[in-house]
Amino acid sequence: MGELIYIENLRHTYPGHDGQEVAALTDINLTVKQGEFVAVIGTNGSGKSTLAKHLNALILPTAGKCLIAGMDTTDPAKVWDIRQQVGMVFQNPDNQIVAAVVEEDVAFGPENLGVPPVEISRRVTEALSLVNMEDYRHHGPHLLSGGQKQRVAIAGVLAMRPKCLVLDEPTAMLDPRGRQEVLETVCRLNQEGITVIYITHFMEEAVAAHRVVVMEQGKIVMQGTPATVFCQVEKLKAMGLDVPVSAEVADCLRRQGFPLADDIISDEQLVVALCP
Ligand code: ADP
Ligand code: MG
Repeated sequence: MGELIYIENLRHTYPGHDGQEVAALTDINLTVKQGEFVAVIGTNGSGKSTLAKHLNALILPTAGKCLIAGMDTTDPAKVWDIRQQVGMVFQNPDNQIVAAVVEEDVAFGPENLGVPPVEISRRVTEALSLVNMEDYRHHGPHLLSGGQKQRVAIAGVLAMRPKCLVLDEPTAMLDPRGRQEVLETVCRLNQEGITVIYITHFMEEAVAAHRVVVMEQGKIVMQGTPATVFCQVEKLKAMGLDVPVSAEVADCLRRQGFPLADDIISDEQLVVALCP
């Protein structure tokens, strides 16, 4: 093994209202190596958030296995270790900020871990600098923009020194500028070695990942590099998913007889292909 995330035949069912079970995940097999950046896409209800919650032992498998750094999420003795290694960031920044001052908010996680005060202060400085928010250390979080709040939320997770960041639609409530700030921060953290699982419905963001995993009705139905996934324009559209604008334009041009390569997924690639 040696993978950071190892998921085998994972199944998750929720109890439904009328006594009928909801199969949210069926037969999920997924491995992620330390340092990878994996984007997860899929329509609403396809099981993305349920999968994310397994990575942090917030919920446990109905069947199958979920191992984090070799630790089984069903082992009660490992839960805190798993939660320290896999940090979660959710959609709504306002639900994740607990303190009245940025630095206190970032210190909250390590304080709960029982980290000594001097070390906490060092970690807060480091975490705020990693998300480019050191100038806001003494600010009130309520005055920050959505993108800044999400970066504070990410800093709060980084202060726990996790191996892996799991972000569940972290930009869904942000304006384009906030989205850009968060994506750039996540890319930079990944370049510094942190493993990233990034759930999004913005295809232009998924293009930044090493690997894209596509979910539909509780299953992984496609995965590969952004180029191999996003060149399957018809298939993704049939699932109700968008594709990056450049991939779609390239697909239209190809169907009009333009001889374009089928790995065009960014504006730059499309421009270079059209104006060599
Ligand atoms: P996504 O994040 O891709 O939108 P979810 O993982 O939230 O998908 O949901 C997958 C399926 O599980 C959906 O059918 C959803 O209605 C159902 N589901 C999610 N959470 C619960 C819950 N707490 N109780 C019952 N059903 C749930
Ligand atoms: Mg979700």
